[in-house]
Amino acid sequence: MISSMPRTFTDEVREFLSACLCLHSYNLFKNPYIWFGLLWGIPIPLVTTSLAMTAKGHLAPDISDIFQSPLQCFFLAHPLLFGALFGILGTIRQEKDTQIQNLVEELRELSTKDPLTGLANRRHFIHTFEEEVARTVRQNLPLSIIFLDLDFFKKINDTHGHLRGDTVLREVSRYMQQQCRPYDTAARWGGEEFVILLPADDETKAAACAERIRCGIAAGFSEEIPFPVTISAGVARYKAGDTLEKLTERADQALYRAKQTGRNRVVLWQKQDCGPCPAKDA
Ligand code: GH3
Ligand code: MG
Ligand code: MG
Repeated sequence: MISSMPRTFTDEVREFLSACLCLHSYNLFKNPYIWFGLLWGIPIPLVTTSLAMTAKGHLAPDISDIFQSPLQCFFLAHPLLFGALFGILGTIRQEKDTQIQNLVEELRELSTKDPLTGLANRRHFIHTFEEEVARTVRQNLPLSIIFLDLDFFKKINDTHGHLRGDTVLREVSRYMQQQCRPYDTAARWGGEEFVILLPADDETKAAACAERIRCGIAAGFSEEIPFPVTISAGVARYKAGDTLEKLTERADQALYRAKQTGRNRVVLWQKQDCGPCPAKDA
């Protein structure tokens, strides 16, 4: 990771010396910068050699002696010196590129994933929803959503502690993700609420998926959770012109009915779920 501290002269020298010791700095086949250096250095021995051959008698003896002295070897070595120098700078550049790529990857993870569960966060879910709606409309396919909420999770926290509560959230997320197809998006909506977007699935298929997850969790889905955990889920299907708010509202209404009718169940949104939600009125 790149440090946010300002870089000192010592840092620069250390970086340069470390690149000097790196074999990549001298590998002609992997480091194109060496070639740039060689080309850059070639004119120097060409000029000095031709001067040495043609300048005899035309230049002052002191100057023409320079081209006969060991200094001429230094001039001749310039393509190699520039090749090595450019190669070292190329290695430094490559290391910087790798650091930037890692940083971008790290930022992508931070901005799209929920740190506790590793699932997509709400921001990433919103972005994915927009993409999937565009594809759904274009291909005239169904699209459904599942809203899941852990039952009596506050009681789990109160009884087993907050850390154990976190483990439950992580394990439920892992299990949910495991039950999803690669092109479904499971996200943490917030707290102990999750959402799954199922492209190309109508509400019946989505309800079957939710039921599979519910049954698996109720049956004991993880060795790390020795006490019972259940979830309730509401399922709704995308309708033309829906915004995410409208769709999630319907799924939330179905979830509310699942809670009202006893929890540990999956409810499909139906027209009668519309209307004022007593919980929200209270
Ligand atoms: P219901 O069956 O009606 O959904 O009841 P509930 O207890 O699950 O719902 P409630 O909204 O009363 O409580 C949710 C609890 O989830 C309260 C909050 O402390 C807990 N919670 C939210 N986020 C986290 C978290 O990241 N970790 C832990 N351990 N608990 C959390
Ligand atoms: Mg809950
Ligand atoms: Mg809740």
